[in-house]
Amino acid sequence: MPPIDPVTGLNRDQRLSSTRGPRCTEPHVVVVGGGLAGLAAAAALADGGCRVTVCEGRRRVGGRAASFDDPAGNPVDACQHVAMGCCTNFLDLCRQAGISAGFRRDRTMWFIAPDNARAECTPSRLLPAPLHLAPLLLGMRHFSLIEKTQLAFGMLRLARLRPAAAARRTAGEWLAGIGQPQSVIRLFWQPVLESALGESIDLVSITAARKVAVDGFLAHRDAADLHVPTLPLGVLFGERLLGWLRQRRVEVKTGMPVTGLELGADGRVAGVRCGGQLIDCDGVVVAVPWRAAGRLLPGMVPVADEQLTASPITAVHLWFDRQIIDVAHAVLIGRVSQWVFRSDAAPDQPGSGYCQVVISASRGLLGGDRDAVVATVVAELREAFPGARDARLIDARVVTDPTAVLSVRPGVDDVRPPATTAVPNLVLAGDWTATGWPSTMEGAVRSGRLAAAALCPALGRPAAHLTPDLPRGLLARIVLGR
Ligand SMILES: Cc1cc2nc3c(=O)[nH]c(=O)nc-3n(C[C@H](O)[C@H](O)[C@H](O)COP(=O)(O)OP(=O)(O)OC[C@H]3O[C@@H](n4cnc5c(N)ncnc54)[C@H](O)[C@@H]3O)c2cc1C
Repeated sequence: MPPIDPVTGLNRDQRLSSTRGPRCTEPHVVVVGGGLAGLAAAAALADGGCRVTVCEGRRRVGGRAASFDDPAGNPVDACQHVAMGCCTNFLDLCRQAGISAGFRRDRTMWFIAPDNARAECTPSRLLPAPLHLAPLLLGMRHFSLIEKTQLAFGMLRLARLRPAAAARRTAGEWLAGIGQPQSVIRLFWQPVLESALGESIDLVSITAARKVAVDGFLAHRDAADLHVPTLPLGVLFGERLLGWLRQRRVEVKTGMPVTGLELGADGRVAGVRCGGQLIDCDGVVVAVPWRAAGRLLPGMVPVADEQLTASPITAVHLWFDRQIIDVAHAVLIGRVSQWVFRSDAAPDQPGSGYCQVVISASRGLLGGDRDAVVATVVAELREAFPGARDARLIDARVVTDPTAVLSVRPGVDDVRPPATTAVPNLVLAGDWTATGWPSTMEGAVRSGRLAAAALCPALGRPAAHLTPDLPRGLLARIVLGR
């Protein structure tokens, strides 16, 4: 008599008959977690000829890139998400899934200084990288010519930094150490790096900052383009990406938290447990955040809060009686509010009075006082946007995700694990794994593709490839070094 599983109460033969359809030759892979990492892994595994089942614990897929329903039942993104032109794998996945039209491509960034001076900054379409940034820099009217020159030199020194030379330093320390003026740090580096990395410049490593400067700005003319969703994330990923995966015969089970993995006698994973149910499989991708991964795979992933720390991000959702923001989005520098996005609805349409303010690295934000956060943000918007002065605030909602992103501090890359594990048919994915990218949608998609590429050969299937980075022209290669 085969042994009885303590969780399911079934023996192996019973379990096989309860969860398997007709035997087929395609290897069956279970992806645990339906965030972007898991969905990207599922797509790549299906491409590699695997039968894929995604088990997502929540009712919807999309993970942190998700929406909630406002009181009228309309989906609102929990927090505004933006991709950049350098996010080649994320953009490629969107193209494959046919959802690219759900993003707007913005080349212009508006900066609003503490004295309300506005800078409209657009990189050149004609000049070769990194000279394409010259108009962006010159457009920063809140800096003197000397500050602009210092900023340009700081950017170049950062780009040419050998990562090993400053591996243990924070961005804040390093920038001050090379003599970047406080004004440039506070009004450029701080808002740009904190928005890109989701963490304070006093905590992030200089290597993470260098990645933003090089890949996000200097390396290519299109690198800094902003790809802003024009549809709710819940529609883009929770419906359309999901629908595309299902067309590719990926089975996606929501409301299906995985509670454990079952190891076979050969040391390979034989199945995943979802409460009382066991799903047999030939391979597993664990694509959950690091804390959840630690629960599923004790001892196999770095310890949460000790080796891997989170950074919080707060989104302040505001509904005014009219449209108050006269640009698509703006970086508010030297204020509590960091980046404001207006609704895409035309001014006379319902929903046009909605806007969202994003505050990264928001730990301890105004003592956690929600009313103070709303009052401060509204007062700042009224200062920065004349149209807001007479507008009536109808509703407000403050959403903080305390574990929004991995805090990319000095030394974190030493502990971020690769996709492969000691178990040949078990791989890891997630924006916190070793992708070389910060914790972003691009990092998540890369991790899913890397996990599929690591698992496919173990299952005798062709491995997937990453989409290459944006190509560097000759001048960029000379200026940035190798
Ligand atoms: C407030 C905020 C703002 C952000 N802004 C940006 C931005 O502007 N640009 C950008 O690129 N990135 C941004 N990010 C980061 C981006 O959302 C994440 O990097 C990315 O979505 C992570 O994807 P993931 O699949 O690795 O993890 P997740 O999205 O966390 O997905 C993991 C999934 O696993 C599921 N799960 C957990 N445990 C189990 C279990 N036991 N069984 C089954 N399922 C389980 C979870 O429910 C979840 O759906 C932001 C994140 C936040 C929170």
